[in-house]
Amino acid sequence: MQQTPSAPARKRLVLLGGGHSHLAVLMSLAHDPVPGLDVTLVSRDVDTPYSGALPARLCGRAQDDDFLIDLRPLAQMAGARLLQASVEQIDLERRVLHCAGRPAVPFDILSLNLGSRPDLSALPGAEQHAAAVKPISGFMERWEQIQRDHDAALAADRHYTIAIVGGGPASVELACAMQEHLRRTRGVPLSLRIVLVCARARLLAGMASKAGGLALQMLQKRDIDVRLHCRVLAVEAGQLKVEEKRAGQEAQILSIACDTSIIATGAAAPAWLATTRLALDGRGFVRVNNRLQSMSHPFVFAAGDIAAIAGQPRPKAGVYAVRQGMPLARNLRRFFLGEPLLPYSPQTKALALLYMGDEQAIATRGQWAAIGHWAWRWKDWIDKRFVARFTHPAPPPEAALIRCAGCAAKIGSHLLREVLAELTPCTHPDILSRHGLTEDAAIVQLDPQRVMLQSVDHFRAFVNDPYLFARIATVHCLSDIHAMGARSHSALAIIGVPHAAPAIMQDQMLQVMTGCTEVLNAHDTALIGGHSAETAELSFGLSVTAFAAPDRLLHKTGLAAGDRLILCKALGTGTLFAADMRYQARQRWIAPALAQMQQSNQRAAEIFQHHGARTCTDVTGFGLLGHLREMCGPQGAQVTLWSERLPVLEGALECLERGWFSSLHAENARHAEVLEQVQDPGRNARLQLLFDPQTAGGLLAAIRPEHEQACLAALRAAGYHAASCIGEVTQADSGTTVISLAAVPA
Ligand SMILES: Cc1cc2nc3c(=O)[nH]c(=O)nc-3n(C[C@H](O)[C@H](O)[C@H](O)COP(=O)(O)OP(=O)(O)OC[C@H]3O[C@@H](n4cnc5c(N)ncnc54)[C@H](O)[C@@H]3O)c2cc1C
Repeated sequence: MQQTPSAPARKRLVLLGGGHSHLAVLMSLAHDPVPGLDVTLVSRDVDTPYSGALPARLCGRAQDDDFLIDLRPLAQMAGARLLQASVEQIDLERRVLHCAGRPAVPFDILSLNLGSRPDLSALPGAEQHAAAVKPISGFMERWEQIQRDHDAALAADRHYTIAIVGGGPASVELACAMQEHLRRTRGVPLSLRIVLVCARARLLAGMASKAGGLALQMLQKRDIDVRLHCRVLAVEAGQLKVEEKRAGQEAQILSIACDTSIIATGAAAPAWLATTRLALDGRGFVRVNNRLQSMSHPFVFAAGDIAAIAGQPRPKAGVYAVRQGMPLARNLRRFFLGEPLLPYSPQTKALALLYMGDEQAIATRGQWAAIGHWAWRWKDWIDKRFVARFTHPAPPPEAALIRCAGCAAKIGSHLLREVLAELTPCTHPDILSRHGLTEDAAIVQLDPQRVMLQSVDHFRAFVNDPYLFARIATVHCLSDIHAMGARSHSALAIIGVPHAAPAIMQDQMLQVMTGCTEVLNAHDTALIGGHSAETAELSFGLSVTAFAAPDRLLHKTGLAAGDRLILCKALGTGTLFAADMRYQARQRWIAPALAQMQQSNQRAAEIFQHHGARTCTDVTGFGLLGHLREMCGPQGAQVTLWSERLPVLEGALECLERGWFSSLHAENARHAEVLEQVQDPGRNARLQLLFDPQTAGGLLAAIRPEHEQACLAALRAAGYHAASCIGEVTQADSGTTVISLAAVPA
């Protein structure tokens, strides 16, 4: 939950796994928040695949939007913190999860919805030579490879054979969908062989025998080689070793040659669960009662494939995971409130719709089964409707009133300038910068060879993960020092934490200070003090001190005609997080933005210095145009920007086009007065990008044209992949500042 002062967090619920049941839990929290409950979702996949739509996706009848559910907007709507991580260690004594690369995640209540996967360890050679159908995200990558290998075989005029191990619904659907896609798109039907290897005497053993018969007929009609009674003994390079054993006959050991093999056998639980001391069933799944509550640890709940409901065995199928969502949501809420939990009984029969290729499906329930195009249309409608329920949520009604955080919550430069103009602070001869405004950091002369630099920054959390927020805020706070070409020496921290149960406040502080200290240590910068306070929202900032030789410093102003302007990071954080707060951002946009924001500017500054830069600043709250204008200084300059060269974070232009502007955007847009010949700034997303406030944005430096290429190459080699030369200074000291947008010269 996003905490408000009236609802301090009392307990922490961690949802582990973004499976089908947790979708309903998140939706329930979004529609009916639980005051006082702090919710975190931890999931390996954030674009979580909906397996029902996998066959349609494989054969191109569904797109990613019909198949992947982006957990980010859903988590935002539910007020849940989203951590993308694979967890394989749970300490139930201390009630923490361990995720690689970040502090432990504590919980009071834990809910598991981790799914299942085929057990490769039971099949010698499978780990090395085969692909598992789950996790589906991994399988999709393998599918790309299979298509490339198939095409290479085709080009070499040979057959390509896919062996699928398993005889259940997943293997039957995969065989049909992959074959349909390769035949339809390659148009050479004879190049592909598919063999389906099933240990049992019939297909679809857990379903109506008529369904198994229909599937066999259909596969044979499609020239898919079905080998019943064949148990795979081992997977080897280029072949499967199988034992064929028909009733009343001697067992035979055979080899089945194949170019690739896919394991789609029955569901298995992750082996690491056994280390948690949770009560498990004989197959390693979490034993729960009919309230979906662990039989051994009442504060742990489980649903979907990972759960085994005592006395109510059911097949591992998404339909049960979906149905368990609402009962799980209800009982998690009741457990938190101390109310009696409600029993749940899974349905005894469930409808299954299996894709058989070329827009046909088998529908089966209980002992009934039928096949037809109508069944495919039914399946397609159900699957697309399910995914659509959880994707593209509407923005909240108060969207227009939402105030941004991070650097997008800064006070605009015009306002700031007017206020500062009213002040007459005393000064000293050793203070080389006035109000700290003419440079990114204040400069105090210590002796002729040494100056001290000081900067301060502070803002409200714009992501609800305190650890990540602190890492980004620290990179951001150090950036003013880096922009001046110096190395930070020490820092004082200021932290504001919302009121909550003491253990929760303590953990929030620990997460923030861990994130901060990690980044400071990586910069060899000592944390030497600070202050903390209880605040309405989580906030963090640093005052940073550095020492430097004055003649080594980079300065904000001092452009010269002919200088090239190089920006080392992509733009767009303001609009992306404005969209994120309104549930409109995609994880595939936000994850790279968060990664870039954690990238320090220190190395970029060193590279700029190495290539002779004299003028540099960091692009933050005032946006590119505001900071570029500052670089032009009171003496003014004429600058041409090549807007096509502006590096842009994925999704940022789309967000700007849709009007997801951050709170500071309009104020920053006042800098448009220095732009030449812009008729209608409102229409052009690339133009709007100039006004977008950046949190932990990149350095913008001016270097001589002869160093441009080498400098860009060095930046990119150092990991600033978005680094770009975005324009040039056409005239320095021009009296007034004029910035024009132009096409990149040929
Ligand atoms: C090809 C195929 C087709 C299928 N078609 C159907 C169908 O049409 N109908 C049907 O009912 N069933 C179908 N199934 C079965 C279905 O996939 C599963 O039963 C269903 O996905 C289980 O849902 P779940 O909610 O338990 O977990 P999942 O949907 O598998 O979700 C598990 C989640 O946990 C996360 N996770 C896993 N491990 C970790 C970890 N260590 N740390 C953090 N996060 C983790 C994953 O990223 C994922 O978000 C199909 C299966 C396959 C393979």
